[in-house]
Amino acid sequence: MVLLSFINPLSQEGQEIVKEKGDLNNVFTSNEDLINIVTYDKRQNISDDSLIPLSYGDLSIKRIQWYIERKNNKDFNNDDFSYLFNEDITEADAISFHLISQSLATNFNLNSREVKLFIESQGKLVEERLLRLMVHERKEIVNKILSQLIVQDNINWTYLKELVATKKISLTSLVLDNGNIILNKDDFINRFGDKFKDRAPDRMYDIIIGDNIKELILTKMIMQNTENYLERIKEMSSTIEVHPAIAELGEMIATMISELSTKYSSFYGTGGPGGDMEIGKLIKKAFPPCITNTVDGVSSGGRNDAIVLLLTSFVSYARLYPGIFRNEGVDVKVSDIDSNLNVTLNEILPLIYEAADNCSPPLFDDQPQEKINITSKLGFGMHNTPELEHEGETTWYTPMSCEKIKMHLPQLCKPDKLCEKIGNPLSYYSIVKWQMKKDGEGESEEENKEENAQSEE
Ligand code: SF4
Repeated sequence: MVLLSFINPLSQEGQEIVKEKGDLNNVFTSNEDLINIVTYDKRQNISDDSLIPLSYGDLSIKRIQWYIERKNNKDFNNDDFSYLFNEDITEADAISFHLISQSLATNFNLNSREVKLFIESQGKLVEERLLRLMVHERKEIVNKILSQLIVQDNINWTYLKELVATKKISLTSLVLDNGNIILNKDDFINRFGDKFKDRAPDRMYDIIIGDNIKELILTKMIMQNTENYLERIKEMSSTIEVHPAIAELGEMIATMISELSTKYSSFYGTGGPGGDMEIGKLIKKAFPPCITNTVDGVSSGGRNDAIVLLLTSFVSYARLYPGIFRNEGVDVKVSDIDSNLNVTLNEILPLIYEAADNCSPPLFDDQPQEKINITSKLGFGMHNTPELEHEGETTWYTPMSCEKIKMHLPQLCKPDKLCEKIGNPLSYYSIVKWQMKKDGEGESEEENKEENAQSEE
């Protein structure tokens, strides 16, 4: 049977491997055993040397790279990473898992893109490794790991409350009886057997629970435990000195993620007569009349909605993701583009707050709570200012259409000629920006690239 740590590197066995063989002085030392396992893997593509991990550090980077490539690369070739599914790699894999955990927990915020990608990649690796096992072996290892993760027989759903709270698992995907999660076949038949008149209860067990629920719980528990493990390392890291190899590995992982994000990101759109979708500094000259009127200050009715709903969504998308309507259906958060919130805090919010101040009466003078609503519309929950740890508590509100503006804030819509051709202020902005660039006005491409690089840092 495969080693438990091939699926769960946090198992006792995985920790013992790390204790015995995980020497931090050898993180980047060429590792012959690892190279041999990879190059002798029957399916592994060895036509390109860069595909072969040469050290534990290299394997750590490739482990996350696999996930990003698999998710984004249309020409992804499984055989480029075949070794990740070879059981012989278990020891090296467990060591690399712990190296990544240390380097990310000590170098990054726990809500950072880097940490999130690692957790997701771990979940996907578990899923795909299980899928490649023989059925009997898969059942056996799932039961064994679950019996280690869930010690008691009758588990109440509250045992998984962390998974439910973090939305890793939904209660509707579980079978519950009096609050207890039913996983075992005999237990299922004892409790529900007499409820099925026309079908065999054991067949119903296979359909409703089967191995799927067990594997789902196992995968999500490993992801949650990885998250908790990183949290513990972070707490401890304030009292111990971080090994230079760990710091270096963290930087290398961040560089790889940044490069691949830029390569595959749909946020970095291109220009054309339909509008300039490139991310770049805000150009006030390209704002449509309704937005210029809002920035100048709103004195009549609709002041709050103009700042909180219209301006907040317009400015944030115009600055960070002008191509939103070209890539509809893509789930995007502010930090996917502005990873440390530098642009949000230093460019977007100041412009919104300035416009709020220009209102008469100034918006926050009589309604300071509207700052919370602005934060909420950016996707950072009901808090005074955006913070990464609250991202996702609310949704990043998309820009209002002209139709809605005309209906709810008619006093701000003073259409000009271009307005006849568009349906959303963001399209107006993109078209003018494109025209300005064509005419040699506005920011240069170099400035744009510099800006984007800064928001990545
Ligand atoms: S038509 Fe649209 S873009 Fe133009 S001013 Fe009115 S709301 Fe703004």
